[in-house]
Amino acid sequence: MENTPEHRSGYVAIIGKPNAGKSTLMNRMLGNKVSITTHKPQTTRHQILGIHSEEDLQIIFLDTPGVIDPSYELQKAMMKTVDRARRDADIILLIVDVTDYNVPGRIFKMFSSMKNKEIFLIINKIDKTSDQQCQAVAKEIQGKFDFDDTLFVSALNGEGLQQLMDTIKENITSGPPFYPKDMLSEQPVRFFVAEMIREQLFLLYHQEIPYSSTIDIVQYDERDDLDYISADIIVNRESQKGILIGKGGKAIKKLGKSAREVIQAFVDKKVYLDLHVKVREKWRENPSHVRHYGY
Ligand code: GDP
Ligand code: MG
Repeated sequence: MENTPEHRSGYVAIIGKPNAGKSTLMNRMLGNKVSITTHKPQTTRHQILGIHSEEDLQIIFLDTPGVIDPSYELQKAMMKTVDRARRDADIILLIVDVTDYNVPGRIFKMFSSMKNKEIFLIINKIDKTSDQQCQAVAKEIQGKFDFDDTLFVSALNGEGLQQLMDTIKENITSGPPFYPKDMLSEQPVRFFVAEMIREQLFLLYHQEIPYSSTIDIVQYDERDDLDYISADIIVNRESQKGILIGKGGKAIKKLGKSAREVIQAFVDKKVYLDLHVKVREKWRENPSHVRHYGY
């Protein structure tokens, strides 16, 4: 990797409340789906890295879990992830859903202790309301913190994203490429496979099930004809096992089918997906379990 004096690079952390559109925004900026997104809050649990490279420039986006007041160990680990991202970042994008714009005080508290970082206010989901409402929301939030810039976007339909990209580029300073230029993210395939199963689980199950589950890839065999994947779905309580499996295994079959389709499209190969449900009593509350499952 060349490191010329003209090369510029930097880290951009994407933070905000759950469901603000952080992961959608990052995927759209990269032109690739790197981070899973659903209509449910707290879909993202890890720091997901997305890399945008040009000949003389590299921007590393850090997608993060939504900022909440953590109430169990898994959520505490998620908030540590947010904290790491904002410390690593040169630029911070605070993503605010214009229709749900109450910014938690802990975000401003976080900002007030930071130096030498550009902090931009990004008003998202502008497709959902009037210009007037967008301006009013921006004004109210600007009253609470002195942002370096404010931009209006729709991560869903792409409006304003080119301008956001240009603004980020203007603020990226000289630095080496940190990753190979053809790399889009740093996690291995099995990480994305686990995330894709989790995404389908978020889409197909309700209430506490998505929040009580995690995916453990037990085996990943790349065979000539197909990839064999064995994955455990870890749940928090015995009673959740039955719900996950469903009557006569109907629910888990549906999950397996939709997850397999998404994974096949991702690895561009046939996939055999073997899913098993395991109970780990209160894994979410247990620091060593939370760490063991990769959080
Ligand atoms: P995150 O929790 O902040 O990562 O939010 P996601 O990216 O998972 O998005 C949450 C939901 O908001 C999803 O259903 C998205 O499709 C939706 N969403 C994200 N951006 C926009 C937007 O600009 N406009 C509209 N209408 N919906 C959006
Ligand atoms: Mg997300």
